[in-house]
Amino acid sequence: MTESLLPPGVLPDFPPGWVWLCGAGPGDPGLLTLHALNALRQADAVVYDALVAPEILDWCKPGAEKIYAGKRGGKPSAQQRDISLRLVDLAREGNRVLRLKGGDPFVFGRGGEESQTLVQHGVPIRIIPGITAGIGGLAYAGIPVTHRDVNQSVTFVTGHDQSGETPGSLDWAAIARGSQVIVIYMGMKHIARITGALRAAGRPEDEPVAVVTGATLAGQQVVETTLARCTDDIDAAGLEPPAVICVGRAVLMRQALDWQAMLAGTAPRDTDPLGRGRPAESA
Ligand code: SAH
Repeated sequence: MTESLLPPGVLPDFPPGWVWLCGAGPGDPGLLTLHALNALRQADAVVYDALVAPEILDWCKPGAEKIYAGKRGGKPSAQQRDISLRLVDLAREGNRVLRLKGGDPFVFGRGGEESQTLVQHGVPIRIIPGITAGIGGLAYAGIPVTHRDVNQSVTFVTGHDQSGETPGSLDWAAIARGSQVIVIYMGMKHIARITGALRAAGRPEDEPVAVVTGATLAGQQVVETTLARCTDDIDAAGLEPPAVICVGRAVLMRQALDWQAMLAGTAPRDTDPLGRGRPAESA
């Protein structure tokens, strides 16, 4: 398939004994990169995570070994070690090993640790970035992660640390003060604590929040809410992870830019949601 898309020589050959660590994007197979597709077409073994959409594996070459490496309960650190060492073994057996991860492998994806293990064991690697859920997933909800009238910075945070608790190392008050837009990964479990910390640090009760689950997939759901109402609205809508949660006025832009609703024939709710009162193209 890539063969017909690109002239020969543009995309690399996958040498046996190598591990390519590759982002699969947030779900929609169309968001794979050409490098990812090129890797799928050549890999002998594909080690994939729970968040990799099943359709993407249909692009594996015939006979490729597909190995599920999602973590379900148990001891995450031990399992992580097993996955990393499995990659080393598969490479040493002479396979072309594709380690496929949801989103981008280096964004809350343990891609750094896995690559480091490979390097420490002398296994050659290539890193293929992917579209991360906190950017591409929000774009599918019609939310620009930066927008000139709203923010000059954005902070990506994880709502879990290795222990499964909200990260003790995070200074939520500093984040609340310093970042106009905050994008939270893995935030559903501790959403009440996170929104509470942001409010306690002075973020307004009515600050816009969007919760996007299953972003870019057919079952994508978006709830627009506020810092004060967020936890109740998540419960009321019955939302389940995975979700990216965006805090900040960028969320208002969805009223103009919900392109999926427009595809379905619904007119934009408000073409000037920030109330600029002048055309967007004027500086
Ligand atoms: N490496 C991934 C993130 C892995 S951590 C990336 O770059 O996107 C897992 C978290 O990512 C989930 O808890 C959720 O917060 C987010 N996520 C991944 N895919 C998602 C999707 N399709 N919709 C919403 N959130 C998603």
